[in-house]
Amino acid sequence: MNKILLIGIDGLMLHRAIASGRAKALARLKSDSFFTDMTVDMPTVSGPSWSTLLTGTTAQVHKVIDNDFKDHNLAQTPDLLSQAKALKPEVTTYAAAGWPPLIDPADTGPVIRTRVEDQDSGKHSMFVRDGETHGYEKIDPEVAEDAVATIDRIGPDLSFVYFCGADEAGHLHGTLEGPYFDAIERIDTLVVKMYQSVQKRQQEFDENWLIVITTDHGHRDEGGHGGDSEQERASFVIAHAIGTPHPSWPTDIKPEELVGHILSAL
Ligand SMILES: [Zn+2]
Repeated sequence: MNKILLIGIDGLMLHRAIASGRAKALARLKSDSFFTDMTVDMPTVSGPSWSTLLTGTTAQVHKVIDNDFKDHNLAQTPDLLSQAKALKPEVTTYAAAGWPPLIDPADTGPVIRTRVEDQDSGKHSMFVRDGETHGYEKIDPEVAEDAVATIDRIGPDLSFVYFCGADEAGHLHGTLEGPYFDAIERIDTLVVKMYQSVQKRQQEFDENWLIVITTDHGHRDEGGHGGDSEQERASFVIAHAIGTPHPSWPTDIKPEELVGHILSAL
């Protein structure tokens, strides 16, 4: 059995990030992994796209069509952590994010279920923050810090950790220069910290780990997304194994198929 860490980096234009030289860890991971480009569905908006990536169903099924989450069907479309628990009741799961609709039980959605009973029994834990209010430059490092501490302490079987600073900077400043790449470099550093934590566990406890990284959409040059351009629909899957060979998943993965591949590796 593998332990799996899924890292979601909102609004990351991976190829542009690597070409900038500011995403050194992501560049190394991409070149030593299973890697494929992936095209996300319309609309290229965080709510629908993460709902698809995290539930393994399309918007026709989860019915999240924008960031308002009005009349959604998430009650019928469990997130991948909940699906893992249903498949294997003994699994431990963890989620950490600063975008409230993904994780905050008091917000709209959320896409990731709260599972109070599982939290009480130690099978599930969550780190919920509000980057919309406090800014992701502050919140993303808090998310990473809790993720590293949790990996160090319990090494959950399946984790989802989410960063939004690059998307935030892209909206504010565009994606051609400056702050977008500063934010990417900050997130790249957080990825390194989590990677090191995983590597330490692999060495100390002889665990097999799989780190999966993806994004929900790209951006236009001037910042912003939602449309049908190739640049806005561009996503990717990195799947980097530690202690075992990298997976050989098909290179034509659809966004709604990622959950199935992750669960098959658990
Ligand atoms: Zn997004």
